[in-house]
Amino acid sequence: MNKQKRRAVIAGNWKMNMTPSQAVEAVKETAKLTAGAKSCDVVLCVPFVDIAAAAAAAEGTNVKIGAQNVHFEAKGAFTGEISASMLLEAGAEYVIIGHSERRAYFGETDETVNLRTKAALAAGLKVILCLGEVLSERQSGITSEIVSMQTKLDLAGVSAEDMKNVIIAYEPVWAIGTGLTATPEQAEEVCAVIRGVLSELYGKETADGVTVQYGGSMNDANAAELLAKEDVDGGLIGGASLVPEKFAKIVGAAEA
Ligand code: PEP
Repeated sequence: MNKQKRRAVIAGNWKMNMTPSQAVEAVKETAKLTAGAKSCDVVLCVPFVDIAAAAAAAEGTNVKIGAQNVHFEAKGAFTGEISASMLLEAGAEYVIIGHSERRAYFGETDETVNLRTKAALAAGLKVILCLGEVLSERQSGITSEIVSMQTKLDLAGVSAEDMKNVIIAYEPVWAIGTGLTATPEQAEEVCAVIRGVLSELYGKETADGVTVQYGGSMNDANAAELLAKEDVDGGLIGGASLVPEKFAKIVGAAEA
């Protein structure tokens, strides 16, 4: 059993929800309800404008703040974009990269995911790298090939040392925001495939140390079963992270 070697991470993805004042309330409530968490890191990935307020509200608690995207250039004429150093100075420690909504609606490709990942790591951010198959790929029986390819392309040029700051979130696209959840067996199967690719790329020791989350309609009712699986080391939570009571129960399930 190598699960014990890895730190469980429960991360919320607020997406485009919560104004700064709402964020402060939600961070404080989440911090209060998860104050007992010891074996699990608690992260909230918030909209850019919420980061500073959320980080101030999280200070002295065990809640850490993340962003939901980052540009790969350090600065310059990239209207509407944000750099890694801006995120860090605002108080973000983590950043989600390659979320399926960015891939589906904003032209994100494995190439740009890779560029963002390298830039974020070089600047000192921890990366939550999202990947996963769409429904037609699962139905065609090519899930393993798809996630293996994404893992290799998204991590091209990322060193074994840098992998200490990478979390992989396996997110089957058909399960995100749909209420459909992968079964614990499906989640375990694909998380194990990802770890196998990490082992090919970096060796077993490094692969055994990487936190691999499951994401896709994880909630307070199904979290315990999913998180009990050997290769599922945490969760990336969308909808349920907006309700501190539900999110805290998921953190509780990771602690158990
Ligand atoms: C997500 O946005 O990464 C996600 C998993 O969303 P949900 O939990 O709402 O399916």
